Amino acid sequence: MAAPGTPRALAVVVGGGIAGLAAARDLAEAGHEVVVLEAADRVGGKLLRHEVAGALVDVGAEAMLNRRAEGVDLARAVGLEVEHPAVVSSRIHSRGAMRPLPRSLMGVPLDLAALEASGVLSPEGLARAAREVDLPASDLGDPGDPGADVTVGDLVDARFGPEVTDRLVEPLLGGVYSGLAREISARAAVPQLVALAARGSVVTHGGAVPTTYAGPVFAGLSGGMGALPDAVVAAGGLRVRTGTTVRGLRRTPEGLELLLGPTTDPELLRADLVVLATPPAPTARLLADVAPAAASELAAVETASVAVVTLAVRAADAPALAAADTSGFLVPPVERRRIKAATYSFSKWAWVREAGRGLVDGDDVLLLRTSLGRHREERTLQADDAELVAASLSDLHALTGLDARPVDTHVQRWGGGLPQYAVGHVARVARVRTAVAQVPGLAVCGAAYDGVGIPAAVGSAHRAVRELLATRVTWADEAPRGMMEP
Ligand SMILES: Cc1cc2nc3c(=O)[nH]c(=O)nc-3n(C[C@H](O)[C@H](O)[C@H](O)COP(=O)(O)OP(=O)(O)OC[C@H]3O[C@@H](n4cnc5c(N)ncnc54)[C@H](O)[C@@H]3O)c2cc1C
Repeated sequence: MAAPGTPRALAVVVGGGIAGLAAARDLAEAGHEVVVLEAADRVGGKLLRHEVAGALVDVGAEAMLNRRAEGVDLARAVGLEVEHPAVVSSRIHSRGAMRPLPRSLMGVPLDLAALEASGVLSPEGLARAAREVDLPASDLGDPGDPGADVTVGDLVDARFGPEVTDRLVEPLLGGVYSGLAREISARAAVPQLVALAARGSVVTHGGAVPTTYAGPVFAGLSGGMGALPDAVVAAGGLRVRTGTTVRGLRRTPEGLELLLGPTTDPELLRADLVVLATPPAPTARLLADVAPAAASELAAVETASVAVVTLAVRAADAPALAAADTSGFLVPPVERRRIKAATYSFSKWAWVREAGRGLVDGDDVLLLRTSLGRHREERTLQADDAELVAASLSDLHALTGLDARPVDTHVQRWGGGLPQYAVGHVARVARVRTAVAQVPGLAVCGAAYDGVGIPAAVGSAHRAVRELLATRVTWADEAPRGMMEP
């Protein structure tokens, strides 16, 4: 129920991705009537499953950080069981061989002995990286100033030398953001690195940070992350209208008004509270009238496009792959391959291995996926599905020796799927929030703000609703007083 004294509001959430659904749930829990408007014919956004060789597997996000609570808490709150990866070690293909991934912070080495043992770097690259311990603290400006920023790559180049950026940081950042190390904001993407470098040697201070965290780093869901959106809706309290594109937003004396539906059959919907949980470009369009300063900030946020290729191969045709004791591997861009990573889903997730048992004509099937596409490399994806499958198989053959013909394949394209956090992103987000907060009843959330991962997107939804409800109580308190004054 709404807090005593707070009138029940009609809250509209635009965008039924995981951020929008989390916001909708919070609003419903606060006692408001909630409608989620989603342009696609399904909820979930980047959380999506598809059948491959008869098994329903993730073709979008497939894991979430366990160290941040928001994702796993949401899953448990809607009755889902969290599962951790069966194997945690992943590899990196560097300098002609598959190497172990040394202990790192988004690829930035924290253990020079492990780095040397991994063989990821050349002897020269290693010698340069080892000099990091002798460098003074980096001058990154006032730590309290969100505008004081640098790219991750520039910071790592300066401290460890370019080989660390090229062979370790690029593949890690490429995996999470599909971004380029020398363009992504250090403060937004790897704030711990900024904090460590401002103190002195990253290796010395980072290596000394005790690993007190005992639990697994990642979590998933039995049946896939794609199960989460439907479970949030099934938990109740929300009304969802799919196939409903919101095309406009304006202020009226009574509140906010949304323009929905096709241009031939437009509909106006009045709302007391509106949360925009859409990607940056549609959010910018929707804010153009009510918060033009925020709109132009968000219009400047670029995105990267990626594709996920899922392959199903008979285990008997790929004995070496079947025996893999790793969750997959990353490929640095300097290796000049088409794929940037491969995830051995059958090895990483017990439920995927189970799903593959006896799947095709009674034969066990291994399900795995590759990902392709980095920011500014749209050309990689300008190929038909068959070509992306062929490129994946060719790279897998070259890098792992895999020589099996898949029994089924699926290509999922995510055009503009990942927002890019450019230098100054933290300050930009602060400006967006300030401008949006000037509009009573309005908030924004999603992957464009505080992190692209699922827990960060959910966290931004909690924050949006918290701030919206806090200010709403204030107006409810103040409106009658204001009206009594002459
Ligand atoms: C291939 C891929 C793999 C990923 N893997 C992981 C992973 O393993 N772990 C992890 O933590 N993160 C992962 N991510 C990132 C994470 O999945 C996303 O950042 C997150 O799910 C985004 O959630 P969101 O709700 O902010 O946005 P979205 O999921 O993009 O949802 C926004 C919704 O708004 C809708 N919409 C847009 N415009 C309108 C409009 N005008 N009117 C109505 N609706 C509209 C869209 O249709 C969409 O459903 C991955 C991302 C991709 C692309």
